[in-house]
Amino acid sequence: MSKKSIQCHFTILAVAISTLSGNESELVPILRSSEERAYPPPLLTEAELPSYPWEIKGHPELRPIQKEDLHCQGRRDHTPKILSNGESHQDCDGPLEHGLPVTVQPILVTLLNWIQEKTGCEVVVTSGHRCPRHQTYLNASSKALSSKHQVGAEVNFYVKGWEDRAEEVIGLLFDYYNADPKRWDRETDVRTVPWYNDEVFVKLYQKDEGRDEDNSHGFAFIDIQVRGVQYTWKGSQEYYR
Ligand SMILES: [Zn+2]
Repeated sequence: MSKKSIQCHFTILAVAISTLSGNESELVPILRSSEERAYPPPLLTEAELPSYPWEIKGHPELRPIQKEDLHCQGRRDHTPKILSNGESHQDCDGPLEHGLPVTVQPILVTLLNWIQEKTGCEVVVTSGHRCPRHQTYLNASSKALSSKHQVGAEVNFYVKGWEDRAEEVIGLLFDYYNADPKRWDRETDVRTVPWYNDEVFVKLYQKDEGRDEDNSHGFAFIDIQVRGVQYTWKGSQEYYR
């Protein structure tokens, strides 16, 4: 590039700078008139709260039952019991000691929430999962030791405000299936003839039946067992190893 060419470029740049600074001095302030108003915000209207899929339909005030509500009710501060073989047996320490089995049956949670929806009242789970140690503490008879509570396929509950209407609650429970249940004509440990269908077996324990540390309340309670669940006492023991 020649000396003359460099000089020419310099001149153009100097003119450009002087033009820019000239424009800045011509800036005019924005003026507002006394008539101007702020842009008015839209009027607020009260909106309905959205409903969430985990809410109890029609009863957002009720807390949905979750499988964690079926945790083992064992307590280490329960007085040890002497078993028929003469050994002292200590209860487990519930969720402080162990978790839930992976086999907790989802239909139990679904049915308990269905009951909450239909009654509009709180379901109180009194006994869900029982680990083998807790089951042995509650009832160590050979029949009780095959309880489906141990594999998360059985639950006991009552409904607050419906304590004296347990049979009505059972009627609502089977409304879920849109079909009348059958009645179980074989002998069981309850006076009221149980109900069942292909999926569940339901017993009603009256106020003077089936009392243990889990069901030490004074109300009748409902027992739901899931049918067709395969398990063994050995298997439920091994789960915790
Ligand atoms: Zn336990």
